[in-house]
Amino acid sequence: MAKKEEILRKVVKRELKLHQIENLTENIQEAVEIRRMFAEQISGASLKHLSQHSLDLEKAMKRNIENPIGTVQIPVGLAGPLQINGKYAQGDYYVPLATSEGALVASVNRGCSVTKAVGGATVRIIDDKMTRAPVIRADSVTGALEIKEWIERHFIELKEAAESTTSHGKLLKIDPVVLVGRYVYPRFTFTTGDSMGMNMVTIATEKALEILTRETGAHVVALSSNLCVDKKPSAMNLIEGRGKTVVAEIIIPQEIVEKKLKTTVKAITEVNLAKNMIGSAISGSMGFNAHYANMIGALFLATGQDEAHIVEGSLGITTAEEEDGDLYFSVTLPDLPLATVGGGTSLETARECLEIMGVYGGGKVKKFAEIVGATVLAGELSLMGALAAGHLARAHKDLGRG
Ligand code: NAP
Repeated sequence: MAKKEEILRKVVKRELKLHQIENLTENIQEAVEIRRMFAEQISGASLKHLSQHSLDLEKAMKRNIENPIGTVQIPVGLAGPLQINGKYAQGDYYVPLATSEGALVASVNRGCSVTKAVGGATVRIIDDKMTRAPVIRADSVTGALEIKEWIERHFIELKEAAESTTSHGKLLKIDPVVLVGRYVYPRFTFTTGDSMGMNMVTIATEKALEILTRETGAHVVALSSNLCVDKKPSAMNLIEGRGKTVVAEIIIPQEIVEKKLKTTVKAITEVNLAKNMIGSAISGSMGFNAHYANMIGALFLATGQDEAHIVEGSLGITTAEEEDGDLYFSVTLPDLPLATVGGGTSLETARECLEIMGVYGGGKVKKFAEIVGATVLAGELSLMGALAAGHLARAHKDLGRG
């Protein structure tokens, strides 16, 4: 029996685990093929498209994926020019969006043309931090309070220990330190350079906790407690921020609202009040916006961001106000965990998409954050315009249906 078939037979009979295939093959490509053959055999599915790609899976296996069988392909569209008046992003940008939702790229593109017509969207990063909050158990509430006070008194030692693990991570504060019963939840808050930072802050926080447990005898129940708050919708992140906190704004003369968005300033402000404010309030939604997740999802998938953070990036508040007859429109994104270094950013297609915007590598994440903010503004404005004009169903019928 040929070697590949022999290995496959062992996997099927469960004599060999999926992650052990590499031990028996000449190279990673062969192991990937055998795992794919296994998936085909047990399912009866043909996986020829999963197998067609140009990513270096051997490199990806070092940090991005285990048991690879191929790659998923998502169409990427280009929107722009998006004119940005940021502190770091200035001028016209073209934005790659990976999506299977028809009408999304066209909609963002329409928003881009509005930014161009008014001389650009203003964007600013108003906060920048990454958090990790462990949970520690004391023997009583008195002990828990002592740990809280110990943390406050020993911030410098904890900071030195945390920062000894990284050259880019800096511990800004440990705040808040929440007590529940005899549990203590200190929220370690860092800056993480151009990386998203979750691995960085996890390693750094663990180092700091070594001192705390040694000196206080407290028991660390878990390194992550859900007060971080990582990958969950959270009022804490909405209020306190996490990752980059970005605001993008634009003032649109009424004639441009009418010409480009085919509606009126009054109609857009009313949709914002009735939908994004009141509709979100009555539904208990934490996303006081129309569809940030669409732009965040498409940008995150294109650029190798951690896709589970789309849930955080979907938080935020849209404002729309009439000002001297014109439209003031803004998006506030409190929770954008972004990277131009580390994580999935060096996967070949992610790197190319970051390079389209000139934001691959060190020293680029703030520029990237401003482009993300402006892209969300463009997409949000366009959908709000379509809703105000009563065009939403028509756009999806024309562009989203084959
Ligand atoms: P990472 O790739 O683990 O860390 C970034 C690395 O890049 C560090 O080694 C850092 O060195 C280095 N670096 C070089 N130039 C840098 C620059 N200009 N700015 C910042 N760092 C620079 O990435 P991460 O962002 O910490 O973690 C991202 C990964 O964590 C993603 O794959 C994500 O899916 C995953 N993740 C992990 C957890 C978790 O709990 N562990 C949770 C969610 C997501 P120095 O450290 O020496 O500065």
